[in-house]
Amino acid sequence: MRVLVVSTPIGVLGSGGGGGVEHTGAMIVSGLLGRGHGVTVLAGEGSRLPEACAAAILWSEPGAPQPSWQHRPRQMPVEIPANGLLPRLWQRALERQRDFDLILNLAYDWLPFWLTPFVATPICHLVSMGSLCSAMDEAIEAIGRWQPARLAFHTASQAADFALTAPPQLMGNGFDLDRYQFVAAGDAVLGWAGRIAPEKGLEDAARVAALLALPLRIWGLREDESYAAAVEAMVPAGSLQWRGFLDTDRFQAELGHCRVFLNTPKWNEAFGNVVVEAMACGVPIATYARGGPGELVVEGRNGSLANPDDLDSLAAAVARAGLLDRSQCRRWSETHHAQPVFIDKIETWLQQVLNLSC
Ligand code: UDP
Repeated sequence: MRVLVVSTPIGVLGSGGGGGVEHTGAMIVSGLLGRGHGVTVLAGEGSRLPEACAAAILWSEPGAPQPSWQHRPRQMPVEIPANGLLPRLWQRALERQRDFDLILNLAYDWLPFWLTPFVATPICHLVSMGSLCSAMDEAIEAIGRWQPARLAFHTASQAADFALTAPPQLMGNGFDLDRYQFVAAGDAVLGWAGRIAPEKGLEDAARVAALLALPLRIWGLREDESYAAAVEAMVPAGSLQWRGFLDTDRFQAELGHCRVFLNTPKWNEAFGNVVVEAMACGVPIATYARGGPGELVVEGRNGSLANPDDLDSLAAAVARAGLLDRSQCRRWSETHHAQPVFIDKIETWLQQVLNLSC
């Protein structure tokens, strides 16, 4: 297949601004290249692809980034800034569509969903988040009614947010597990990673770490500085160890030393890359029984589940998770979330769309 992958218009690839979508895109691109497909990536100017994607062609466009749907009221209308990156990406994609068999959209934005039925080259959408606003729900559900095969999701919890007319196609997510080193024993420290933003619920992890008198190591992009400062002020000085946003090699090297990894989303997290990355290093998870992470964690196998937003329940989950066999966590990631497992699903999905469109 000749595939055009259109990336997110929110951040430049390599910056972390695109969150988990950057990782997902890199896994898809390197995975499809490895299976002999031709891949072109279309992304914002200044984007860099990881080494494993070196055989892909990178096209970039300038333009103002798209505001994220994450922090906006549900009834917010669709907004596209002047000189917007989003329309530039899609102008290029549509101009060059005949050079490709398929276009894969990774962006959670109205425009690519809306234009899909009118484009000759089939466009498929890997939806990266759950329901956040009515305009996006409508756009996603309209594709679901028109041709459900064009949509894929990461987890059942995420897909359940949308009114779909057919059972959702679930891709999970994939990881190059050779890059994550197993650490057999954790230190007396807890871990948390993700964008530092309210929907990620860092305050709950900070409070539970303080309750258990263990330091909490934090990795991720400080998307919201005032939120980060507010969390810091909630716990005794020295409880939090801010590690910044690290590249995967450095991130995993530090992550593996945690006794337990906490994941505390306040929203319906679509997947939760960091949960699998921690497991891959042998770190058991304590998370809420909610959204993607609640689906990825199996009590007593790779972590422990807590009642959502219940700090006592989360503290108890941390204690249980700390007793688990770390090699079992690593094995779980190998069986369920290795890159080839993910690429099998992606390849089958894209091929199916291609067959339907012929
Ligand atoms: N991440 C990273 N370095 C860090 C912290 C996080 O590369 O120091 C990456 C991590 O590998 C993951 C992404 O940030 O792929 C966060 O994705 P996740 O699905 O957990 O949340 P999202 O940001 O998409 O809501």
